[in-house]
Amino acid sequence: MKSDIEIARAAVKRPIQEIGKKLGISPEDLVPYGHDKAKISADFIARIAGRKDGKLILVTAINPTPAGEGKTTTTVGLVDGLNRIGKNAAVCIREASLGPCFGIKGGAAGGGYAQVVPMEDMNLHFTGDFHAITSAHNLLAAMIDNHIYWGNALGIDTRRVTWRRVMDMNDRALRQVVSSLGGVANGFPRESGFDITVASEVMAILCLASDLNDLERRLGEIVVGYRRDRSAVRARDLKADGAMAVLLKDALQPNLVQTLENNPAFVHGGPFANIAHGCNSVMATRTALKLADYVVTEAGFGADLGAEKFFDIKCRKAGLKPAAAVIVATIRALKMNGGVARDDLGQENIAAVKAGCVNLGRHVENVRSFGVPVIVAINHFHSDTQAEIDAVKAYVDELGEEAVLCRHWAEGSAGIEELSHKVAALADEGKARFAPLYPDEMPLVEKIETVVKRIYRGAGISADTSVRAQLRQWEEEGYGHLPVCMAKTQYSFSADPALLGAPVDHVVPVREVRLSAGAGFVVAICGDIMTMPGLPRTPAAEHIFLNEDGMIEGLS
Ligand code: ADP
Ligand code: MG
Repeated sequence: MKSDIEIARAAVKRPIQEIGKKLGISPEDLVPYGHDKAKISADFIARIAGRKDGKLILVTAINPTPAGEGKTTTTVGLVDGLNRIGKNAAVCIREASLGPCFGIKGGAAGGGYAQVVPMEDMNLHFTGDFHAITSAHNLLAAMIDNHIYWGNALGIDTRRVTWRRVMDMNDRALRQVVSSLGGVANGFPRESGFDITVASEVMAILCLASDLNDLERRLGEIVVGYRRDRSAVRARDLKADGAMAVLLKDALQPNLVQTLENNPAFVHGGPFANIAHGCNSVMATRTALKLADYVVTEAGFGADLGAEKFFDIKCRKAGLKPAAAVIVATIRALKMNGGVARDDLGQENIAAVKAGCVNLGRHVENVRSFGVPVIVAINHFHSDTQAEIDAVKAYVDELGEEAVLCRHWAEGSAGIEELSHKVAALADEGKARFAPLYPDEMPLVEKIETVVKRIYRGAGISADTSVRAQLRQWEEEGYGHLPVCMAKTQYSFSADPALLGAPVDHVVPVREVRLSAGAGFVVAICGDIMTMPGLPRTPAAEHIFLNEDGMIEGLS
């Protein structure tokens, strides 16, 4: 089997205008970035706003192993499969961050014969959106310190500036810094730090904004810090929102690329799946829905986090109504959930697969509880045995649903025809009755408890009085209607990454809460959440280079 980059490089790409044509976008409405990437013009998007929507299909997964379980690969493969059986389908996925790209091997463009191309561009600078987000974020940071330097008319308490700086790189050295050192001319020293760009609230805002006006309004809402009396200082108070929106104007237009089989792929935005909601932009999803009959999109992490936030944050806020959901499971991840160690995953172990199925079962129940019909995709790995596959199928059958084996990674669209037919039929049946988990009016602490009890099946939460008081204060300030964004380990239903399977009655500690007033959610931090990752002992960057022909080697 060739490597992902070898397969991607051998792709026969069509000019991006041809991909646009498939969707009915004329060349004038595309803003090309080279030959194989384009942005879709804001004008065109405004013109098609009145059109009927296609059907939205979510791809989510069981709790992952550290390797990733192939959600992106399956999202891309399913769209190629749908097009293969004669449907008009498009992909919507996130853009890649440079941090993981140079850290632990693993791109964001899918894998095997189910990828989005140009994968090198997508995993590197792409169309510059992340640079624009980094710049907009850091402009606000610079304006805060500048405001303080020139007399601090707003009375910002320099000990309570919450807005940090960002960079699109894994760099633990920058997690905590003291800025403005070096004397009077450099301002007032204060402790601060850097987060990775995908953790920026500006990223979440770009992904939830419905148009440029909404983007600017949300940017203005950002709370950058507090005064001595604890009143909030916003980006609008610093008059930063206009210039930030200017920097983000082009970035807000969705990017169009193609799959290995020349089908349309929207790749736009990339918020973290822990302190943010973890799915591609509302702009891209809405645009795709106007242009394709079926839009397949991915939510980060397992369904406990990814699907829940997709439904409760993105769909709630953007008025999206998913028609069906695909839950990706792999035999490997089920075995791990059944107690097998990572090194032993290659050996057949039917008992462990069966034991691990409880994890899958709970995700199936959870997704169904949002009123969205479910089908399970078994993403086939080379080492899977027939008996293991049969065990999963039998288990899902007992749940009253169906599990379909898919070989898109090895075979492209030919390997995912059965799932494609079934997903299209499921979406066409029109059985979805989507509703978010909790109403807007529910108090914030109860929203967190509802997710913990209904989705994680925990006994409840533990939270200091200071956390509870903070939530009450935000309610008094008018933020009580916001959804909650859970920041928890992706490996378990609980807050303990080692607790696999389907734990019950665990208590989820809510250590800290943060207000993302611009993005429009309250983050509940349950456990240690890293907003500036570090590089591993041997970073992937050590093996990335240009070969004699000037081609990139070593991107996975
Ligand atoms: P996720 O979106 O769930 O994080 P990805 O789709 O990005 O996962 O896949 C993670 C990695 O696993 C990629 O490098 C991909 O090539 C690989 N992968 C996915 N499916 C398979 C498969 N069926 N067999 C082997 N490798 C796979
Ligand atoms: Mg993915």
